[in-house]
Amino acid sequence: MKLELKKLNLEEGETGTFEFLEDTVGELGDIQLLQPVQGEFTLANVGLGYRMAGGFRTRVRQPCARCLDPVDSDLEVEVDETYLTEGQEPDQEDIFVLDSGSLDVSDVVRQNLLMGIDRFALCNEDCRGLCIVCGANLNHTACAHGLSEKEK
Ligand SMILES: [Zn+2]
Ligand SMILES: [Zn+2]
Repeated sequence: MKLELKKLNLEEGETGTFEFLEDTVGELGDIQLLQPVQGEFTLANVGLGYRMAGGFRTRVRQPCARCLDPVDSDLEVEVDETYLTEGQEPDQEDIFVLDSGSLDVSDVVRQNLLMGIDRFALCNEDCRGLCIVCGANLNHTACAHGLSEKEK
């Protein structure tokens, strides 16, 4: 979803509330969306730009950090970002400049999702991972190398 900022007719100091439901938010690498992303935020015209605050939730599938089996989890992410309109110079690192008159909500969601997700999700706290010799998933099979036993 893209918001055409001029069409919102938000005067300086005014805020608007928006809801969105997105089936896809672009390339997420090895993360898969199991549900559309559902979110709500307020957009405030702060003079030099817009502040977007709110949050979104979805359900994701990603590979276990040890054994690569799929791990499903619910994800809830809060968003609070400021976007300056074209031509402004940001004086802080976490401030972005819009390169057009629109705000791409899918981009905002994708970036915040990638920052908010636990990249070291495990299928199970006791996940035994993959054998470093043959790659067997040690949760499901006992291979001949027995390295996981020796390490203990
Ligand atoms: Zn695992
Ligand atoms: Zn092995």
